[in-house]
Amino acid sequence: MVCIIGGGVIGLASAYALVRAGHEVTVIDARETLGSETSFANGGQLSYRYVAPLADKGVPLQAIGWLLRGDSPLKLRPRLDPQQWRWMTAFLGACRGSVNKRNAAHLLRLATLSQDTLQQWRDDDHLDGFDWRRNGKLVTFRNASSFEQARSKVTNILQQQVLSAADCARLEPALAGGGFVGGIYTPNEEVADCHAFCQRLAARLEASGRCTFLLGRKVTGIRHADTAVQAIELGSEVMPVEHLVLAAGHRSAELALPGLSLPLYPLKGYSLSVPIGEQHRAPNVSITDYDRKIVYARIGEQLRVAAMVDIVGFDTRLEPKRLALMKRQALETFALAGDYAQAVEWAGMRPATPTGVPLIGASVYRNLWLNLGHGALGFTLACGSGQLLAELIGRQTPSIDMQGLTPRAA
Ligand SMILES: Cc1cc2nc3c(=O)[nH]c(=O)nc-3n(C[C@H](O)[C@H](O)[C@H](O)COP(=O)(O)OP(=O)(O)OC[C@H]3O[C@@H](n4cnc5c(N)ncnc54)[C@H](O)[C@@H]3O)c2cc1C
Repeated sequence: MVCIIGGGVIGLASAYALVRAGHEVTVIDARETLGSETSFANGGQLSYRYVAPLADKGVPLQAIGWLLRGDSPLKLRPRLDPQQWRWMTAFLGACRGSVNKRNAAHLLRLATLSQDTLQQWRDDDHLDGFDWRRNGKLVTFRNASSFEQARSKVTNILQQQVLSAADCARLEPALAGGGFVGGIYTPNEEVADCHAFCQRLAARLEASGRCTFLLGRKVTGIRHADTAVQAIELGSEVMPVEHLVLAAGHRSAELALPGLSLPLYPLKGYSLSVPIGEQHRAPNVSITDYDRKIVYARIGEQLRVAAMVDIVGFDTRLEPKRLALMKRQALETFALAGDYAQAVEWAGMRPATPTGVPLIGASVYRNLWLNLGHGALGFTLACGSGQLLAELIGRQTPSIDMQGLTPRAA
């Protein structure tokens, strides 16, 4: 029996892979509804080929430039919080070209496995009902120098195509007149509704008869001996565990144990869900406005706009100024895409490691498994991460080389 703390996209994909492999599973979540924290209204992009971590050469300097601007995609509120300073120090340490390249390779392996795994689940189990589409992704550039830099990195392996501004408008007519100098198109990227995906996984898990859900139950502590975990505490109740998976997103660090390093920090972001009516002209291709760091995806009958990295601590409040900036930029780019007056606003906290690489697999406690720290790519990486975890718990050879992904190596 495997007990999973966290019913977000990572915990549910782990449960799904484990049940497919024949395990019995219990998923515990503090909320009454599954997939209702960071997995609720994220960007919806299954961005399998754009996985390079945020930490890179030149980012600290670029960040200083951003922080001085009124329309910055980045916001920093320094706090008297050792966790914030430890995370930022480690992040700065990872801002090197060689580290970025190495970690991007680890993430690409995991992302490729994720795409294959979702395809397999869709084929084998007819998993549907979450607005999945292979709609392609177009990264657009406003600035000639950032376009040139991106062009130089285009590779055939990722099947990317360099497009002029006119080609971009031909591919995606909703972009006409958008102020872009060109773009890079990747046809086999996908999009879906992450919350609906969580709900579909949960429904299939329920129907399997092998999964129990404990909802509205917060895990308040983990009991352990020297080398193994023994039980979890749910307030005054103690529940023994055989295998325990920690997949509690950005709150995982609250359950850290002696000797277990969980270098997580919540990076806050926002989204707008804009209803699309028959009269609107929304993009069909997913768009990343590279220079403004804002992404657009059509998910069913809504346009999902997502942006911002706010390093402000555990603060889930909707900040009107940040949302107003996003709405203004979205209107400048896609004025006719939807009914912005009816847009639903949302804020979520990306569970980020300094390197951008998640921690998947065994911990220093032999029956405590980790699946956390997926940052800005949790939806993209969920199925592959769940599959790997199920293989590791089942003592099978993992589908991909685990180098760089396992907690011990973090
Ligand atoms: C603005 C924004 C846009 C994004 N866009 C994309 C995108 O386009 N593509 C992409 O791939 N990713 C995207 N992401 C990232 C993605 O949403 C996250 O990486 C992913 O949702 C993390 O999933 P999770 O299951 O780890 O965490 P969560 O979804 O937060 O789930 C964790 C669960 O654990 C539960 N929990 C926590 N503590 C406890 C406890 N003590 N006891 C019991 N339960 C507990 C919580 O209630 C929660 O349900 C975006 C994120 C943001 C904020």
